[in-house]
Amino acid sequence: MYTIRLQWLYSCELFNTNQDQEGIISVIITGKTGITGIFGYPIKHTLSPAMHNNAFKELGLDYVYVPFSVHPDGLKSAVQGALNMGVKGINVTIPHKEAILPHLDQLTKEAKILGAVNTVEISDGKLIGHNTDGPGFIKSIEKELGCSPKGKHIAIIGAGGAARGVGISLALAGARNIVFFNRSLGRAEKLAQEINEKTEATAEAMPLEENFFKKTVPLVDILINGTSIGMNQEDKEIINEDCYPKSGIVVDMIYSPPKTRFLETADKLGLNYLNGMGMLVYQGALAFEIWTRQKAPVQCMKDSLLRVIYGKQ
Ligand code: NAP
Repeated sequence: MYTIRLQWLYSCELFNTNQDQEGIISVIITGKTGITGIFGYPIKHTLSPAMHNNAFKELGLDYVYVPFSVHPDGLKSAVQGALNMGVKGINVTIPHKEAILPHLDQLTKEAKILGAVNTVEISDGKLIGHNTDGPGFIKSIEKELGCSPKGKHIAIIGAGGAARGVGISLALAGARNIVFFNRSLGRAEKLAQEINEKTEATAEAMPLEENFFKKTVPLVDILINGTSIGMNQEDKEIINEDCYPKSGIVVDMIYSPPKTRFLETADKLGLNYLNGMGMLVYQGALAFEIWTRQKAPVQCMKDSLLRVIYGKQ
């Protein structure tokens, strides 16, 4: 029996903190330890090991979670290797979320429609692809703001990977209408068309311009920022104060900094708001539950992320 100290060092440049953040957990590896981990390239900045290893420890589960640096040329053999070595489950991140699809045996409905996988369940010799990113976002607004997407009018600023995943999941979860505002209008149009064709919701695309915001956003129930605007202190306002919803909730997918200018305005206007930490935690919690069939210790997972991202004790 070996005791292994797992240690992560995160760069302060990445997370706007003053000092490097460390997370140290001692785990005992036995002959029965279940191996889980994450495939990505590069992978050294992943936050998931801190979140999952603390969660395993919290529940006393004999599992460990490790980062795997998988070059795109080696993805197929890495997936087969995971299966052959009895790995219990893997997360998948950039650049493999779409490329992994042909190497899996089954996909959930969500993963099939999205054409992207972030979690692989390995069970009875089968590789099953899930996508917990959008469902993680939905879980976060349900749990933290008491808001269900059913029947809602939603505005999403952005049409990149995160906006697409969340938008399609919201549509599958019963949202009534989604408007995508994006700098590259064609990208938003393609996404809206996909939602109109594949789900019961209706969707449309609009340019990232004030007169379009003014006509639509004040009436929505949920306003979401899915762009990277706001990650840097010097980023300008995405949307003017007078365009915010009259009531309803405001969510930024960004989690660092914890309160972007987008959210500061929501706060000033007295609107309920949430940053992207909930989405990050719940996508991990859903993956944890798929692999272990145990209820995820969400607070413990959140505290682990708060420590590594913001340096909170
Ligand atoms: P992405 O695929 O690169 O998309 C970036 C989006 O931001 C696009 O819509 C892009 O518009 C827009 N954008 C970027 N710079 C802009 C600018 N200067 N002016 C106007 N629009 C601009 O990235 P992503 O993976 O979707 O990530 C987007 C954000 O979501 C990031 O902040 C990321 O941190 C966050 N995120 C959070 C989580 C979480 O768990 N909380 C998970 C994933 C992502 P164009 O299409 O015109 O380029």
